Amino acid sequence: MSTQPRIWDMPGGIHPPQNKAQSTARGLERIPLPKRLILPLLQHIGRRAEPIVQVGERVLKGQLLASSHGQYSCPLHAPTSGTIVAIEDAPYPHASGLTEPAIILDSDGEDRRIELQPVADYRSLDPVDVLDLIQAAGISGLGGAGFPTATKLLSRPDHRISTLIINAAECEPYITSDDMTIRHYPARIVSGIEVLMHILKPDQVLVGIEDNKPEAIAAMRAAAQDTTIQIIAIPTKYPSGGEKQLIQILTGKEVPSGGLPADISVLCQNIGTCLAIHEAILLGRPMINRIVTLTGAALQRPTNVIAPIGTPIHELLAFAGLQPERLHRLVLGGPMMGFTVDSAAPIIKTSNCLLAATREELPPPPPALPCIRCGLCAEACPVELLPQQLHWFAMGKDYAQLQRHDLFDCIECGACAYVCPSSIPLVQYFRAGKAEMRAIEQQHSRAEHSRQRFEHRQERLQREAEQREQERQARAEKAARAKAAREAQAARAQLAEPPTAAPDLARIQSRKVSTLSAEQKQLKVAAATARMALQRVQKQLATNPDNTDMQKQLPELEQAFAEAQQAFEQATTQEAR
Ligand code: SF4
Ligand code: SF4
Repeated sequence: MSTQPRIWDMPGGIHPPQNKAQSTARGLERIPLPKRLILPLLQHIGRRAEPIVQVGERVLKGQLLASSHGQYSCPLHAPTSGTIVAIEDAPYPHASGLTEPAIILDSDGEDRRIELQPVADYRSLDPVDVLDLIQAAGISGLGGAGFPTATKLLSRPDHRISTLIINAAECEPYITSDDMTIRHYPARIVSGIEVLMHILKPDQVLVGIEDNKPEAIAAMRAAAQDTTIQIIAIPTKYPSGGEKQLIQILTGKEVPSGGLPADISVLCQNIGTCLAIHEAILLGRPMINRIVTLTGAALQRPTNVIAPIGTPIHELLAFAGLQPERLHRLVLGGPMMGFTVDSAAPIIKTSNCLLAATREELPPPPPALPCIRCGLCAEACPVELLPQQLHWFAMGKDYAQLQRHDLFDCIECGACAYVCPSSIPLVQYFRAGKAEMRAIEQQHSRAEHSRQRFEHRQERLQREAEQREQERQARAEKAARAKAAREAQAARAQLAEPPTAAPDLARIQSRKVSTLSAEQKQLKVAAATARMALQRVQKQLATNPDNTDMQKQLPELEQAFAEAQQAFEQATTQEAR
């Protein structure tokens, strides 16, 4: 029998009512295939995917619809077969309520899929090739942040990962999607973890599950019994499922402020991501479904479902028996970190829970009162921040102090606001403060960028002016040398000195000219003069085609040149006869 490894405590934390039992009684259900799927191009942290399909195109289940655009991006696949009916802005599950570009897919009801290409013997592949398969399957973290998984696995390519942590804590009230994933697919999850072990070669793998999920703990222990993977039950306390908090609980190590887990040789993945990795590699399936908790007292039958990505939220709520008259607030996520969402929006890869709450479950917050400096918020903070101070600085927009007090280490868990007797919406202040500081930072970097561009332009103009001056001087020197040579030659000619070099073309031509009669010479000069006059006007018209004076002169000059040339040619032809 395996012994439970040592665990550590984390600072702060709270114990809100769990409310998890409501949604676990029905097992895991499959919803009917939706008629229309809304597939936002942004379902992860990073840049939007780029559509590679056209409106009107028929697609198969699992077919690539949009390819990743850069390192921080994820491809998108068709969750079922059907026709692309639009690529346009559509409702999006975000706190802002703004729309996002999406591919709209109408299902044909046949659910026909592309041919799958599983890789059973992935251990024979180079880890980099396995990473490519994970990237191609469109897997981004299912735990909430939505970091592209292949990118996260390489977050510090120069750091060896000694500890791989699988996050199955699922500490937020109401949410049970990880719990149900583990209960139904423990063997597949272990298989996905083994793929990660092949890539990272860690010394140890620790799976952290809160001790309020005994079925999940038992299922994972049974599935992992012949492996080196350790299943660790941790005390139920919110927010033990925060990445840095779970690392601290399982290893006793702290991720440095502003750093990444890889900085202390640790990497964390969500349990649902491990299932997606198994399906991508061993079954050849891209990420097109996810498990979602449907819960809240406004639903007649709370449950967990396997739903195609892109399913509109109202269809999921209808499946769970929404009672609209009881619905007070619809939240995507849990009551601590979730946000109000519109039911027209779809679920995306990061959507783990829909909470259809009644007024009793999520009552409107009472009016905020002044801070009484009780210090409860600081006691609850898992990051050991000083929320009352941060609140003070955020109200005064004192960004320097917010920076100094590590605002960006705040994980927005809401534990401080939960315990605040003055009902101050602390997290809202912190989110707003972060957004303002990011905007200022962007403004500074844009201004810095413009300054650098201006300086580079000035330097380039200066270099070009210097080069032009050098070329001008070179031309002047060359002209002076040529003039001196001509004057020297003229002086030698005056002194009737014999030619010092072989006869050149100019002299041959001058001999030819000297054979012309006086009349022929006169005609030749007239023709040359007419040609020069014509060329001058042609040149001026080339730079200024709208010059009407020149336009009028042009036919006359052309005729004058033709006549003069003809007269000269006739004179020389007659002479030759
Ligand atoms: S818990 Fe609320 S009232 Fe107490 S110190 Fe913090 S912000 Fe002030
Ligand atoms: S929301 Fe931020 S400040 Fe408040 S308890 Fe959580 S981490 Fe601490």
